[in-house]
Amino acid sequence: MCVQGTPPIEELREWQRAVRAQFPIITGHPEHAYLDSAATAQKPQAVLDCVQTYLTTTNANAGRGTYPWANRTTALVEQTRDRVRRFLDDPAPEQSAVHFTSGTTEGLRTIARDWLPLLLTDGDEIVVPLADHQANIAPWQEVQQELSRRGTHVRLLPMPYQQSSGDYDHIALADLAGPRTRFVAVTHVHHVYGGNMNVHRIREAVGPDAVICLDAAQSIGHLPVSVTELDADFVVFSGHKAMALPGSGAVWARQTRGPAFTPGGWPGTPNTVGIASLAAALDWLDAAGTDRIERWTVALAARLTEGLRHLEAYEVLGCRNSLAADSPVQQREGIVTFRHRDIDSGDLGFILFSHGFMVRSDNHCQGSAGERTGSVRVSLHVYNTVEEVDQLLTALHTLG
Ligand code: PMP
Repeated sequence: MCVQGTPPIEELREWQRAVRAQFPIITGHPEHAYLDSAATAQKPQAVLDCVQTYLTTTNANAGRGTYPWANRTTALVEQTRDRVRRFLDDPAPEQSAVHFTSGTTEGLRTIARDWLPLLLTDGDEIVVPLADHQANIAPWQEVQQELSRRGTHVRLLPMPYQQSSGDYDHIALADLAGPRTRFVAVTHVHHVYGGNMNVHRIREAVGPDAVICLDAAQSIGHLPVSVTELDADFVVFSGHKAMALPGSGAVWARQTRGPAFTPGGWPGTPNTVGIASLAAALDWLDAAGTDRIERWTVALAARLTEGLRHLEAYEVLGCRNSLAADSPVQQREGIVTFRHRDIDSGDLGFILFSHGFMVRSDNHCQGSAGERTGSVRVSLHVYNTVEEVDQLLTALHTLG
């Protein structure tokens, strides 16, 4: 989807002001602009309150004791599974599983370790997105190697990307995928380019039987994620990027393509406070409206991209077409990554912090087919403002 120029966001200004006011770390530090939400998101007061309330009224282990705090904690864990299902627009909750993890990395690794070997047989193929986050590459490569040691040979097909935008090339994928393509790992929103990776086109490209595993680390909390619409079989995300506590996260598994997902081993004590924070965060996000959050952050990203294309010294990554003067600004889900012609990206990160901007600067854990040199990533969330973007552009302009 493309956005022509900078979309109107005036109508969201009042709403955004009220939403921003709910983030104490943001309002408490007006001298800083936090522009690193793709690394981790800040927490609204409702999540902070929920954590405080849980720990001061209910804290107990789950699934063990029979006294009221323990029962309430057990119920909280089960209710949060349903909360995740509702948040993901699960069409058949009785046929899905929700498994809590410490985040996306552990979630993807659990699928790779405990489930994928049950699906694959000799001669099968898996599609792996080699220019995405390492967390969505390494586990699949490891499965392939482990299976090969056991005499099962699985082909790893590199996901094709579109040169101009960095999105997946679903037409090339349709040519690549055949009847032995059993598993396709995809990312909803790219953590460097910010592109919405056309994942709604993946089902059509790979056919009705392949399992689609969605890394939603950068989309949960930023835009509506509907498993009904995407026809995904796994959705994996991190709580901390979705306004819950670090160490929380989930795998949602559809359970109707391939063997049932039942992660093995004794699970130990769940992260109950993290799970409580996740339920509160999903409530908060639904109340704020992920559709509005998306409109806001897409508009800010478009404004930043548009501003950067007038600054000659900068190259914006992943969306090269958008830099041509007359081309539309491609939709970026709140993430814009760029380099300066002469200034090292690490140095640029330090310089920007001296102006109050907190950004990420390195090569962003991208896989082997990704960018080889560092860059600066600005990642926006609902608490960021038009003024912050304009001040950033002014600071970037003064650097030449
Ligand atoms: N996938 C993507 C697309 C990400 O952006 C990240 C985090 N940067 C991860 C996976 C890993 O998430 P976590 O570190 O929370 O496990």
